[in-house]
Amino acid sequence: MKRSGIFFTYFQGERLKDFPGALEGLLDKQNVVYYDAVYGSRDGLFYLEPVAERLLGKVHSRNMIESVRRTGDYEAALYSAGGTVQAAEEIHRGNIDNAFVFTSFGDHHAGRDFYGGMCYLNGAALAIAMLKEKGIERFAIIDTDSHHGDGTRDIFMRDAGVLHVCFCDRDGSDRYNKIDIQIPNPTTDEECLSRMKQAFMPRVEVFKPEYIFWEYGYDATKGEYGDKGISRDSHIRLAELIKTVADEVCKGRLIAILCGGSRRDTATYTIPRIISVLAELNNRFQLV
Ligand SMILES: [Zn+2]
Ligand SMILES: [Zn+2]
Repeated sequence: MKRSGIFFTYFQGERLKDFPGALEGLLDKQNVVYYDAVYGSRDGLFYLEPVAERLLGKVHSRNMIESVRRTGDYEAALYSAGGTVQAAEEIHRGNIDNAFVFTSFGDHHAGRDFYGGMCYLNGAALAIAMLKEKGIERFAIIDTDSHHGDGTRDIFMRDAGVLHVCFCDRDGSDRYNKIDIQIPNPTTDEECLSRMKQAFMPRVEVFKPEYIFWEYGYDATKGEYGDKGISRDSHIRLAELIKTVADEVCKGRLIAILCGGSRRDTATYTIPRIISVLAELNNRFQLV
C-alpha cells in the first residue's frame, strides 16, 4: 500500500471551505500522513512549512518576487508552493510515496518573470529546483488544467530534463520535451481520457522520469469557468491512470497539485476520491 501525504493550506476563497472536514475517513488511515499549515502540529499531524525564500531565486526573477510580495498574498503563496516543495522532500526522504497538495494559489501560470491567473509562485518548478540540488535529473509534469501551463513552460522551455505534457487548446511539440495536446471543446470523458492516455503514457514510459508532477485543475468540468464538458468523475479516472504510470516508471513518486477550478462541490467531491486513489483506499469512496 502506498503512503500518501496530504499537504493542506487554505487561506481564502470558496472552493476549499469544506476542508479539512471533507477529509474525514482518510486522515485516520495508517498510510495517510497529514501536513497542515492552518491548524499546526497536533498528535499525528505535521506542520506544513512555507517555501524557503532562498529557493525562490532559483526559479523566479527578483522583480517578479518583489511584485508578488506587494500583492498582499505573498504569505499564502509561500505556503501554497511550500506544500509542493515539502511533498517532494518527504518523498525524497522516503517518508511518503506520493502526495496531494492543496493550494490557495496555484502554479502553472507563474513563470520566471511573470505571474497571473491566481498563480503567484510555481510550486512544481520550486520543488524541481530543490530536487535538482539533491542530484535528481529527470522530471515529468502532466498538466490537465483546462488552460495552457504558460508559466511552467516558460521556466523549463530549454530544459530537456523536464518533460512537460500540457492538455490545453492547441497541439504542438518541440525538441526539448515540451508537448501540447489539444482537448476539443466540447469533449467527452472518453475522448478526453483517451487523448491524455495516448499522449502521456508512451512518452513518460520512454522518458523515464524520477518524479511525476500532476497539475490537477478541474476547471474543464461541466459548469466551470474553463468548461469543456467533462464530468467530475473523469478526474478520478485520470488519477487512476496517472498513478498507474507513476507506479510503473518512477516507483510511485507522484505529486498532485491543486490548480484551477472554482466550485466548492466539485472540490469536495473529487479531492477526497483522488487522495483515496493515491493511497489505494479505493473502497472508501465509490463513484456515483
Ligand atoms: Zn485553468
Ligand atoms: Zn498547453
